[in-house]
Amino acid sequence: MTTHEDTMSTVITNIATLVTNDPSLGDNSPLGLVRDAAVVIDGDRIAWTGESSKAPATDNRVDAGGRTVLPGFVDSHSHLVFAGDRTEEFNARMSGRRYSAGGIRTTVAATRAATDGQLEANLTRFLAEALRQGTTTFETKSGYGLTVEDEARALRVAAAHTEEVTYLGAHIVAPEYAEDPAAYVELVTGEMLDACAPHARWIDVFCEKGAFDGDQARAILTAGKARGLHPRIHANQLSHGPGVQLAVELDAASADHCTHLTDADVDALANGSTVATLLPGAEFSTRAEWPDARRLLDAGVTVALSTDCNPGSSFTSSVPFCVALAVRDMGMTPDEAVWSATAGGAAALRRTDIGRLTPGARADLTLLDAPSHVHLAYRPGVPLVAGVWRNGTRVV
Ligand SMILES: [Zn+2]
Repeated sequence: MTTHEDTMSTVITNIATLVTNDPSLGDNSPLGLVRDAAVVIDGDRIAWTGESSKAPATDNRVDAGGRTVLPGFVDSHSHLVFAGDRTEEFNARMSGRRYSAGGIRTTVAATRAATDGQLEANLTRFLAEALRQGTTTFETKSGYGLTVEDEARALRVAAAHTEEVTYLGAHIVAPEYAEDPAAYVELVTGEMLDACAPHARWIDVFCEKGAFDGDQARAILTAGKARGLHPRIHANQLSHGPGVQLAVELDAASADHCTHLTDADVDALANGSTVATLLPGAEFSTRAEWPDARRLLDAGVTVALSTDCNPGSSFTSSVPFCVALAVRDMGMTPDEAVWSATAGGAAALRRTDIGRLTPGARADLTLLDAPSHVHLAYRPGVPLVAGVWRNGTRVV
């Protein structure tokens, strides 16, 4: 908060396990683990990491008490600008009905009817909830407005809280255009794009049966690229489709969901620079088939793990919960899941300043009340996050 604090240096010592995500700083594993470690924060940056006994002198000292420090989670996929509640839909689905993309319309109606203040209050509440669970960077999307004014409004609200803002006018075809989807694509790539591009970094499309097909998705993402927005795609969530290959073709930063993949899809991801972002909260909350993380990792694909936090298909803001699911049900090792929830999320946002604890990186750290990061999967559902620093300031 104060300039005084910003210029102070702090050492966190007595860290039993430090996750740096830099193999050269630690044990040569991808997590770059350092045992009996210390981290020095100078202003809003990491200044030093290494063994406790070698830590340089600093102004302040924090004793981690033999616990774990890892990079703050990077949640690269959420939908937090919304109003309303879909408890009844969830309850019905858990009683045996299948999920279909149309449920989004319920949230669209509630979001359009909400005031700016209500949307902002809702967003702020979920961001605080995520922060308490160790998330220091989050991407969030529009997609519940589906009019020029409501999409631009959602992005303005989001941009006040994060730099990772995604224009998702192409979430579903707006109800008013149900009989003329081509006209909606024209709106999304024309007037709506003009109003939204100044507030966003990314453009996204839900490429799925019942939402947008491959040709529509290509047109939307290409139009966004021409306006300086970088693509990411909701791809291959509910069925096989062209989304993943389109993502690689357009150099999207991420193809998100990746639940139904052919061998050609996996090959395309392995040979391209698009990250596969897996969102197990969605499969959990819809009782759907899990994405096969093991298959992707074995093929050499870069994998991120995120929450997909949204009121319909994945109403969790907890990255630790997703880590536990990924380990239990998607074939990931605890190390891989922790990497994917930190460095993987950063890769999915094409960021190199977050997702790792190395000199020069942003001082975003999570302190776990556990002797190692493995406890995130070993102790599912337990609130292990005991402290969070963002931009060098302790916020939890
Ligand atoms: Zn999503």
